[in-house]
Amino acid sequence: KAKDSGRNAFRFFNPEMQSAVETRALLEADLRYAIPDNQLCLMYQIQVDNQHNPLGAEVLIRWVHPKRGLVSPMQFIPIAEESSLILDIGGWVIKEACRQLAHWAKFEMTEKLTIAVNVSAQQFRQIDFVDVVLRTLNIYQVKPERLKLELTESVVLNDVNDVVNKMHALKEIGVQLSMDDFGTGYSSLSYLKQLPLDQIKIDQSFVRDITSDPNDAVMVKTIIDLAKNFHLNVIAEGVENEEQLNFLKSHGCEAYQGYLFSRPIYIDQFEELLSAASAPQLFE
Ligand code: C2E
Ligand code: MG
Ligand code: MG
Ligand code: MG
Repeated sequence: KAKDSGRNAFRFFNPEMQSAVETRALLEADLRYAIPDNQLCLMYQIQVDNQHNPLGAEVLIRWVHPKRGLVSPMQFIPIAEESSLILDIGGWVIKEACRQLAHWAKFEMTEKLTIAVNVSAQQFRQIDFVDVVLRTLNIYQVKPERLKLELTESVVLNDVNDVVNKMHALKEIGVQLSMDDFGTGYSSLSYLKQLPLDQIKIDQSFVRDITSDPNDAVMVKTIIDLAKNFHLNVIAEGVENEEQLNFLKSHGCEAYQGYLFSRPIYIDQFEELLSAASAPQLFE
């Protein structure tokens, strides 16, 4: 009887669902070796100002799986978040970012650049998160303001008091804080005034149809105004073409990230891009 109902229950899964479940289980098992076996890597995507000068980069993680090749963070970060693996992975990203910032501090062309790191909700929730950040900055002797942490609204969904306290502690250290994917989560305007943010990041889903969808245009204009009123700087992600850029510029956006300027690329390529950008008329 138990066997029968087991079988029945199983029938609700189609083969695709079944293989997705299996893939997830396999990835979960393999993810444990990702750090010790050096399978993780970071890609750098440039962020630019209104004059198209480089401000820095967002680092985006990739998993080079020995059999599957490149695995997207959208696939493995949620898996990592279900265990303490996210702490190891997140800590590794912060360490790599600080190592790179320490290197950049040695050169005039790169000393002012920032690196933005994505922080997951579980990672931010860890009790000693602020210590981990501080310790890593100290180890590499990095100026805290060069490091920017990108938090999502899912971070704020946790214990708000704890989140606010940690954010203040991070501000005290001097780290920059950005609200990623703004407008896509369960955001409420009331939390905005409580959080010591430096930046709001307009989600790419609003940027995509900015010039054709009046609702998206209103969203983006509203977010930019909101940022200005709260004295936050504002960056748009997912900028892919001139039309989107012009719209954003004409409505007071200050910084941009997207394929129009560069895809996420490996550090060597990124440094080449910077050299080229320091020569005039790169993005013209
Ligand atoms: P995100 O932080 O919102 O990052 C922006 C995503 O948009 C990246 O996808 C980036 O490659 C992509 N993107 C950038 N410019 C464009 C554009 O012009 N057009 C389009 N269509 N897409 C663009 P990616 O690299 O696949 O990362 C996806 C998400 O995974 C990130 O979204 C972030 O939430 C998460 N993630 C990435 N790296 C890390 C990490 O180190 N730690 C954590 N916790 N999450 C990460
Ligand atoms: Mg981000
Ligand atoms: Mg984003
Ligand atoms: Mg996004």
